[in-house]
Amino acid sequence: MDKTQYKDVYVFAEQREGVIQNVAFELLGKARELADRLNQKVVAILAGSGIKEKAKELIAYGADFVLCVDAPELKQYITEPYAQAVTQIIRERKPSILLIGATTIGRDLGPRLSARLETGLTADCTGLDISEEGDLLMTRPAFGGNLMATIICKEHRPQMSTVRPGVMRMGTANEKREGTVEDITVHFDTSKFKVRILEVVKEQRNLIDITEAKVLVSGGRGVGNTEGFRMLEDMAGAIGAEVSSSRAMVDAGIMTHDRQVGQTGKTVRPNLYFAMGISGAIQHLAGMEESDYIIAINKDKYAPIFQVADLGIVGDVRKIVPLLTEKLKNERNKVK
Ligand code: FAD
Repeated sequence: MDKTQYKDVYVFAEQREGVIQNVAFELLGKARELADRLNQKVVAILAGSGIKEKAKELIAYGADFVLCVDAPELKQYITEPYAQAVTQIIRERKPSILLIGATTIGRDLGPRLSARLETGLTADCTGLDISEEGDLLMTRPAFGGNLMATIICKEHRPQMSTVRPGVMRMGTANEKREGTVEDITVHFDTSKFKVRILEVVKEQRNLIDITEAKVLVSGGRGVGNTEGFRMLEDMAGAIGAEVSSSRAMVDAGIMTHDRQVGQTGKTVRPNLYFAMGISGAIQHLAGMEESDYIIAINKDKYAPIFQVADLGIVGDVRKIVPLLTEKLKNERNKVK
């Protein structure tokens, strides 16, 4: 393979119902950094139906070019049409790097593309950098999170990586940035379309996605049971926070997986993270240590969570949380 034919850093800009997902903006920030190091361009792939006007948002977040595939076949995400569209673009344009969000869509699309393009894919990267030779250094946890592995895709192009939402920091939009939007026509092989969406039934949820929450009250095994989590919900309600948890509580069936923080859960970066009765295992820390301010309550003063906490309270969560909630409610009432 002649690697010199391949250039530029591409980002698959995921949109759902015409709304560009935050992970796309996060990836554009990282792509900008990588492209500047390589002296190359950032190109966003925007696929969907009736989405062209969204291209300017991608330019504001760092794209130099937006390749817009606007087709009725791409109205909702279905693997085959999306895989065909992106594969065609990659084959024609030959990017050096392709970044995709590790969302349910990205996790479905990424492996299809890498198989069709006969290149490697490093999933769930937590760090991306450029080597002295100009290759992409893709870092991700390995061996159950006990080791960080840096993976290089030396022989094949594009170098593909998925990154979970919240891992890369989102930059600020610059509405004045200029870029080029190009329409791309894709020739679909509809004989390969085996799936049709008949109806979309949305799950009713009142909760905010924990990756979007500004304050998280997170509970671990030390909180114990459903009753303990009700106590956390009460506290969260008093300060407009969301409740999340360690994996131990998901495994115990007390919390749902979409509330799990950590390596196999979600990566969160709130302004304030309360770690209640959470020991601070490396796999948990991987998902929350970038929070702006961490308050930990644990009865074991040697718990590893205290090493990342800005404020640590040694004591029993079951005693401290109700007192804290009462105090917070009083303060809130004073403000009212
Ligand atoms: P424990 O480790 O049991 O800690 C409970 C803590 O509560 C202790 O520190 C204890 O001192 C304290 N405590 C007990 N009672 C009280 C009390 N009354 N008041 C105050 N403190 C109290 N874990 C995750 O969280 N997220 C992940 O995504 C994740 N992914 C994983 C992936 C792999 C491949 C593997 C191998 C593991 C993963 N884990 C993950 C599991 C992780 O290793 C830990 O087992 C888990 O985080 C422990 O959860 P915990 O802190 O709630 O429980």
